[in-house]
Amino acid sequence: MSGNETIAALATPPGVGAISIIRISGPESLAIADRVFRCRGPGLSARPHGTFVVGRVEGSEGFLDEAVALIFRAPSSYTREDVVEIQCHGGRESSRRVLRAVLESGARLAEPGEFTRRAFLNGRLDLTQAEAVMDLIAAQSDRAAAAAAEQLRGGLRRSLDAIYEQTVAAAADLEAGLDFLDQDEVPEGLPQSAADRIETALKEIRLLLSTWDEGHRLREGALVVISGRPNVGKSTLMNALLGRPRAIVTPIPGTTRDILEETLILDGVPVRLVDTAGLRVTDCAIEKEGIARARALLAEADLRLHLIEARSEMSKEDYEALCCEDKQRYVIVRSKRDIGVHPNPKIPSEYTTICISAKTGDGLEQLIQTIKDKISNRILSPPNSVISERHRLLLVEAERELEYGKNALNEQKDPTIPITHLRSAAEAIGKTTGKIYHEDLLNQVFSRFCVGK
Ligand code: GDP
Repeated sequence: MSGNETIAALATPPGVGAISIIRISGPESLAIADRVFRCRGPGLSARPHGTFVVGRVEGSEGFLDEAVALIFRAPSSYTREDVVEIQCHGGRESSRRVLRAVLESGARLAEPGEFTRRAFLNGRLDLTQAEAVMDLIAAQSDRAAAAAAEQLRGGLRRSLDAIYEQTVAAAADLEAGLDFLDQDEVPEGLPQSAADRIETALKEIRLLLSTWDEGHRLREGALVVISGRPNVGKSTLMNALLGRPRAIVTPIPGTTRDILEETLILDGVPVRLVDTAGLRVTDCAIEKEGIARARALLAEADLRLHLIEARSEMSKEDYEALCCEDKQRYVIVRSKRDIGVHPNPKIPSEYTTICISAKTGDGLEQLIQTIKDKISNRILSPPNSVISERHRLLLVEAERELEYGKNALNEQKDPTIPITHLRSAAEAIGKTTGKIYHEDLLNQVFSRFCVGK
């Protein structure tokens, strides 16, 4: 990929719509647009930044569409290059014809994320902001979008830049100390100021890492797992919560052989709702596999809805299933209350218990409210949260290197040792924002983008 080439792509989703936008970016974008766009008066390349022009698009086969062209001159554009956006009529074929005319006139089809990659390389965005663009596009809920928007505004970048500066300054303090080694008079303040800076950086990193649990739940969704013995009504409850049939419901125990997952949005938080295979001893290999996966999901669940029939009391298996220490992470759902309610089901009083009938809808509202309350207790929507696994891993690496640096400094070892660790920490932080990058890192980040972004 060369920044000197002019690239083009469809920036709107392919398919039927009122308009489609073909975006062209690069040094030749105005000249290329001139070749396909006809309008009254001067051509697009003779017009100033910030104008829009009504005209028509013509290709080798003649008239293609009526369109509007928007002109953004460098550096006042998304990519900081000359950009022309042609708005033509929506529709898969018509927009493709306009794009083809643009490509035939000298542009190259953009790679996924190439516009944003250029925006990054040209200094308009840092890497966390570039990634936020994709997260904003992919956000499944209001609060996930808000977290991505905050990152796009540069909230995370500012925190990371401050940590980077502290780390680099700590290394510089120690390096300055090296100059005095021969003279036996290292200025007193230098190691202390380095130690203080390391402490500040560590504190900031830990603060950011503490937001990860909530931040990534906002992005990926809180995990709510429905458990219980076969035939207690798990699939029926899942369907009732989703408001549409998804799981197969039959009176034969063990119907739900695999794990079904659906996303539900509750109060702006995506919830991954999972119906597990009936937990029971079985010889069926497929069912066994389902049970193993169910156990793994149960272990990582943010909330478990454990079902027992309202007409029954807790069984030995039910007691065994409530294995997690944190009782707040359970709701015991007494199902099928329309066919009977046991007066003394022997449910330990520490558990939240709700009696429902998925068939009549009784108790469902209360159950949904309880799920919302329990989940929002776990997701507080921090203003500046770490929502990307890539950032988290780099922060963990930086934290470890800073710890090593701090210990080496305390042990008054060879001063080059803490310096090496501090440099590694700075490098890890630099990779989060893209202060330090290499081709592979950019390929990794931008490969998950869509074409046209
Ligand atoms: P699972 O094996 O736990 O997923 O249970 P299912 O959801 O497949 O339900 C087993 C049987 O119980 C089916 O015949 C359902 O129609 C029935 N069932 C589920 N919920 C209710 C309910 O609220 N009331 C009544 N009467 N039957 C229910």
